[in-house]
Order: sequence, then C-alpha cells, then structure tokens
Amino acid sequence: MTPSPRIPVAAPVLDGREREYVLECLDTNWISSAGRFIQAFETAFAEACGVRHAVATNNGTTALHLALVALGLGPGDEVIVPTLTYIASANAVTYCGATPVFVDCDRVTFNIDPSAVAAAITPRTRAIMPVHLYGHPVDMDPILALARQHNLYVVEDAAEAVGARYKDRAAGALGDCATFSFFGNKIITTGEGGMVTTDDDALAARMRLYRGQGMDPQRRYWFPVIGYNYRMTNIAAAIGLGQLERLDHHLAARARVAHAYDARLSEMTDRLVLPTSMTWARHAYWMYTVMLTDKVSKDRDQVIAELDALGIESRPVFHPMHTLPPYQESAGGPFPRAEHAGARGLNLPTFGALTAEDIDRIGVALAKVLA
Ligand SMILES: *Cc1c(COP(=O)(O)O)cnc(C)c1O
Repeated sequence: MTPSPRIPVAAPVLDGREREYVLECLDTNWISSAGRFIQAFETAFAEACGVRHAVATNNGTTALHLALVALGLGPGDEVIVPTLTYIASANAVTYCGATPVFVDCDRVTFNIDPSAVAAAITPRTRAIMPVHLYGHPVDMDPILALARQHNLYVVEDAAEAVGARYKDRAAGALGDCATFSFFGNKIITTGEGGMVTTDDDALAARMRLYRGQGMDPQRRYWFPVIGYNYRMTNIAAAIGLGQLERLDHHLAARARVAHAYDARLSEMTDRLVLPTSMTWARHAYWMYTVMLTDKVSKDRDQVIAELDALGIESRPVFHPMHTLPPYQESAGGPFPRAEHAGARGLNLPTFGALTAEDIDRIGVALAKVLA
C-alpha cells in the first residue's frame, strides 16, 4: 500500500493567468520594480477593496511599517495591538520607535476586544491596530467609535483577510489605512509581497514617497526624507494580478473547505470548539482554527505531533505577543482569553485545493488523536 501523501497546512493555488503574466515580464525584460503589472495590480486591488489607493510593497511587514511611518508615528507614541496576532503587527510598531500596548481578545472570534481597547487608551495613544485574525473581520464599529472619540488612527492589519467583509464593507476599507500580506501561505500570494490601502490622497502620496527610498517624485535623486526600499517587483505583481482576478474563486474554495470541516467535525464538538462566523461577517477563512476543549487531556503540541505522524500538518495558534521574549518584560497581562487560545488552539490545513477526501482523512486522523 502506498502511503497517503502528506497534507500541508497551506499551499498556493496558481490556477489563473499567473504563468502567462510572469512570462510577459521575462519576455519584455520588465522584471524589477517598474512595469505595467505593478500599477495594474494596485488599481485592481484598490477596486476590490472599494478604496481610492493601493500601494504595493515587498511584504506585509513592510506594508505595516510603511503605513505607520507615513502616519508619522514615532518614539513616545503608543499603538494598541491585540496580543493574539503574528509578531509582525507588533514589530512594525517597534520599528518606528513607538510602543505596542497589548490587549486581550474576544472569547468567540479571538479578535481584539473593543472593551479592552477602551481600557488601554492613554494620553500617548495615537493608533489602534485591529487584526482580522485568521480571516474573520474585527467588529469594527466599536473600534471606530473609540478612535473618533479619542482622535486616534485606525490601521487595519488585514494580512490574513483579503476578501473578508464587515457588514457591507471590505476589510481594507474600514480604517484610515489597511495592510495586506501576499506571502505564500496567505489567501492570495505574490511569493512575498504586501499592500497598503487608503482613501486618503495625502497619506497615499507619503507612502509612495517612503516606499521609494524617499526620492522626490518631481526631482530625481533628491531625497527630502529618509525613506526605504519597500518596492514590489513587476514579477510579484504579475503573480498578484493573476491571483486577484480569481479572488472570488479562491474565497469560494476556502468557504467550501470550511463548511466541509464544519460538517466533518460536528461529531467531535465535545472535544473541539469549531470556529464561529458572526452574522455581520464574511469570513475569508485564511486558517480554519479549532480549540481543544477540557475533555482533551493531551496538550495541544502533542496533538499537533500526533497529527504530523499521520501525515497531516497543522500549526499552533500564535503565542500571544506578551509571552514572547522581546515583549515579555514591557507587555503587561495576564490576558487569559488570548493565553487560552495560544495554548489550546490549532490551525488545520486550509487552502483551496483541499479535496473532500483530504478533509475526511483529516477528520479520521483527528478522531483517532482525540479519542
Ligand atoms: C502574514 C502576516 C503579516 C506579515 O506579512 P509578511 O508578508 O509575512 O511580512 C502581518 N500581520 C499578520 C497578522 C500576518 O498574518
């Protein structure tokens, strides 16, 4: 009997015009950070989010840093960040010399808790960074209300949420600006890549300035500021455009996977808490995320190891930022809901090419490991 192939936790689906567009870059010699695909990708992305501007970058972390720099954040400023996120959210704040102030998450969606945000606002707070974790949008209205009341910027970290919607609006169109990642495991990919979206013309212009080393757009090799090289290549944008043209298809495939998990795992709800999608949300299902209940005596890392031995890759929910060495000392806490998710949560394989048989195999493996 041949062993079943290993199921990875994520895999890109490159089934549109990506190859054709990349070959066009090679055939026309436009392989660096000029060329038609960069603008085409930015324009199409802005349109997909329903905003005026999209500024492409070389990854999602630089997109975040660029946004914060363009907003003028620096030493002495505080940015409220959920403790349960990927470290890039917090690091981008640190790169500016500003301070991330961590808060706990909601019990159901694991997204930033608006009441915790309210409690963390100080005279130094300049911005709030809601993160649409694992593709589920943040409940933005209370966050936006706090921001208005206290005159704060809202920077959405939408790295995991291309295509997610809050009420009638897209993730990426909800704050002053929003950032995305196109790493290979994200909802759409450019290999490495990122984007910032905004409706603010002046902010977009500042981001373009800082992205291109700070060079004055009217005067070549004149640098009014210290900028960065955060540019995306035409090749990456070519892949991104091919991906974006099929965004609805990618989202539908992920929703199909999520619904198949919901059905397959429904017999295990004494051992697994399945993800909830709020009525006002369109979940982008970046990662289908489950929590082990108290009925499971094994620890989470043991469950991951045993799934791995059965050929199924999964991954732990993020360790909360306030528990990581760079942030431990300054970070506050305890944040019990985030700590619970960080200890008991795991992401199951989630990508469009998963078949019904794959999901059944994962269900069988989980049933065995959690028996
Ligand atoms: C992936 C991710 C990023 C960073 O994106 P990169 O492209 O890997 O730099 C930032 N924030 C969150 C929440 C992410 O998941």
